[in-house]
Amino acid sequence: MNAKKEHEDLFFRAFHSSLTAMAIACAATHQFLEVNRQFERLTGYHCDELIGRSAEQSGLWDVNEVRETLEAVGEVPEWEVRLQRKDGALRDVLVSIVVVKIGDTPCWLFNLLDITERKQAEKALRNNLNGLAQEVQQRVADIESFVYAVTHDLRAPLMAIEGFAQALLEDYGERLNEKGQDYCRHIIRSAQRMHQLIDALLEYGQMLYRDMPLQPVSLDQALQDALQLLGAYLSQKAAKVDVSPSLPEVIANHTVLVQVLVNLVSNAVKFVPPERSPCVQIWAEKVNGWVRLCVRDNGIGIPKEEQDRIFRPFARLHPTSSYPGVGMGLVIAKRGVERMGGRIGVESEPSKGSCFWVDLLPAPSQSQQR
Ligand code: ADP
Repeated sequence: MNAKKEHEDLFFRAFHSSLTAMAIACAATHQFLEVNRQFERLTGYHCDELIGRSAEQSGLWDVNEVRETLEAVGEVPEWEVRLQRKDGALRDVLVSIVVVKIGDTPCWLFNLLDITERKQAEKALRNNLNGLAQEVQQRVADIESFVYAVTHDLRAPLMAIEGFAQALLEDYGERLNEKGQDYCRHIIRSAQRMHQLIDALLEYGQMLYRDMPLQPVSLDQALQDALQLLGAYLSQKAAKVDVSPSLPEVIANHTVLVQVLVNLVSNAVKFVPPERSPCVQIWAEKVNGWVRLCVRDNGIGIPKEEQDRIFRPFARLHPTSSYPGVGMGLVIAKRGVERMGGRIGVESEPSKGSCFWVDLLPAPSQSQQR
């Protein structure tokens, strides 16, 4: 046996023992010359029904669709075909074709992978996901309109309470004694606080549900925007804010990041004893693959055992008379940071100031993007 014959023998043994469906057709006539057992099983035809006929004649596929590629480069690595079996059933198949020479005859070697189940599973999964996404969207819309309705309905009587207490004080104030006037002022303050609580709840609801596309965001820009929003408050408090230059880019949502920074910086300025001028330092550092943004203050600090609690709704360590607020700022910040794939925490000691940190993923660097 010469070497060529030996190779061909080896090839045919591999061909017939292969666990994937394979067939060989003459490149000139398209007629099948050989098919293996798996090919018969996949198509439902016996080899006698296939050999001497082309795939087109057998109703399997039309090779003309890929003929140009085949002739140009001698192979088609992946061609998706829906073929009809002898019993009429349709199968989705991935076909690879290579041009080979058997003896002196140029032939096509077909290799077939049945992907029907895979495609059905993919389709079912896609339908499920679409259904699920629609359901989630519907629920979010329901919750949003519920929250809107509730807060709207709460505000109307609240405005009446506040307005009438105000009118009472203005129009009938002289008929009330000091105690009566004080009650009116108390009603007005409580109504105003209720407005703040509703605002905070609305803001929190938005942080939970609103669409939050993430992309590379400049920390420099976000901080600049946050400080601009806080401008009047910072000058009223005579606060000094030091920001280290050239902060990196992070993966975030600009609007949400600005809101997080507003909450952290305003707290850093707010929770400072009245006799001290607020002094805030802001910088970023790399920590285990994260970009850590730090906001350090010279304020009253937070005892260790309270440091978890302050991230929970309505948790406040001080009466509003000494430090105003509703206790939702950090909860809102935490939710926002978590939805941007990050985390938030604090290091602090009473009377030694606090350092709140936010970890976010770094944006891919310019050189990586290219
Ligand atoms: P609010 O500022 O409306 O009270 P937050 O959720 O922002 O609500 O903060 C919750 C509590 O955490 C505050 O009431 C305060 O006791 C504590 N806290 C937050 N930030 C600081 C800070 N920088 N220094 C000291 N205490 C803080």
